[in-house]
Amino acid sequence: MRNFNYHSIFDAILVGIKHVFKRPVTTRVYKKEIERAPYVRRSFHLDHNKCIDCKTCMHACPCNAIRIISKDKCEYDKDKCAFCNLCEKSCPKLAIKFTNDENDDY
Ligand code: SF4
Ligand code: SF4
Repeated sequence: MRNFNYHSIFDAILVGIKHVFKRPVTTRVYKKEIERAPYVRRSFHLDHNKCIDCKTCMHACPCNAIRIISKDKCEYDKDKCAFCNLCEKSCPKLAIKFTNDENDDY
């Protein structure tokens, strides 16, 4: 039969009890509304007249925030968007723009 080291078990229990009454080492991060800097362009605008349904923007998006269904139909999820502008840069027809107009979103 293996010998138990009762000292180390006792030490472990002591350490546990001591830490119950200590303040946590980590700090709590409170969720708060983060305001976007005014220079961040916020609203996604897709010009359907220019779009040729090539889906390059959709494949360029690292966040899966855009889904091009057809030339006239696009889904954009602002909550997923990282505002990296890769979609805008990748579009061969310059159909995508980010604007400051809150009402834009595609
Ligand atoms: S800005 Fe970036 S994250 Fe947002 S839709 Fe375009 S490619 Fe995706
Ligand atoms: S990359 Fe431009 S042209 Fe191609 S699907 Fe996207 S918006 Fe349309």
